[in-house]
Amino acid sequence: RTSALSSHAGKPAVTPDGTKLDVLVNLESVRDLDTFDVSHCDGVGLLRTEFLYMERTVFPSEEEQFRLYRRVVDSMQGRPVTIRTLDIGGDKQLPYFKTPKEANPALGWRGTRVTLEWQDLLRVQLRAVMRATAHGPVRLLIPMISSLDEVHSVFKIFDETRLQLTEQGYDVAPDIPVGIMIEVPSTLWILDDLLAEVDFISVGTNDLVQYLLAVDRDNVFVSGLYEPMHPAVIRALAEIGRAAKRAGKSVCVCGEIAGDEAVAVLLAGMGYDSLSVAPNFLAVLKFAIRAIPLAEAQGIVEHVLRLRSATEIKASLEGIRKRLG
Ligand code: PEP
Ligand code: MG
Repeated sequence: RTSALSSHAGKPAVTPDGTKLDVLVNLESVRDLDTFDVSHCDGVGLLRTEFLYMERTVFPSEEEQFRLYRRVVDSMQGRPVTIRTLDIGGDKQLPYFKTPKEANPALGWRGTRVTLEWQDLLRVQLRAVMRATAHGPVRLLIPMISSLDEVHSVFKIFDETRLQLTEQGYDVAPDIPVGIMIEVPSTLWILDDLLAEVDFISVGTNDLVQYLLAVDRDNVFVSGLYEPMHPAVIRALAEIGRAAKRAGKSVCVCGEIAGDEAVAVLLAGMGYDSLSVAPNFLAVLKFAIRAIPLAEAQGIVEHVLRLRSATEIKASLEGIRKRLG
């Protein structure tokens, strides 16, 4: 198995019947760049910038952020780098940015809810990201979106920042794809409206599962109820895949479940065109995608969407695992 995995790692993630998926990496620090072979991935699907901010004692300046982002862009050698704006709050705290103590932090002040209020954080970060676009393909990803109004508010700051930078003589790419995280359940019911306005979406299943099932992802008392294979999650994922296809927009899963080989096959069958995983899952993901024809994966999806419980769905995924050997 190990040698089978490594023999697939350097090959493209193409199904036996010819559909190519982008297999991307999730990065939390620039050190992660040394842990894998860049030629084994199609780019960065999620740069979690809050972790770059965590390793410090004060907020990084625009210049420091720019240098970090540029380092990632340079090392990816022309592959796209998806930079997510700061997603602090909830379980992710910065030692030097004390957010108020909240009874329900997961339902509280986090992600874009913070950066739309503390706009300087967003403006400085956007300046650094936009300056990095002069050095290679960069995509911007906005976390914790729950409404179209939030998207419009971010776009307004995005446009103002771009204008400011070009007026100041900086080189900024003419087209910077902007996407949103799909991780708050409200977005499931306004997907078509959101998709009409953004360039791509990326499903954050870590949070989507927590919010759909009302199970705090970090609470040990309910961790047994945290079930990514709940039919509500599986049906939501399928609907997101369908909606993105209708809109002709790229759709990725960057939550941890994408690193599960059987789930990856399911997601391919649902029409996801990219999967973003921690670097150590690249090989297994490629192996799975290269093993099962898309037509077969689509058949499995049809079957799984009729199942009524996580127990049934997990049993069905065992079938895929067996197929993969
Ligand atoms: C997610 O929610 O699935 C995700 C990828 O983001 P994070 O784990 O950083 O919240
Ligand atoms: Mg998230």
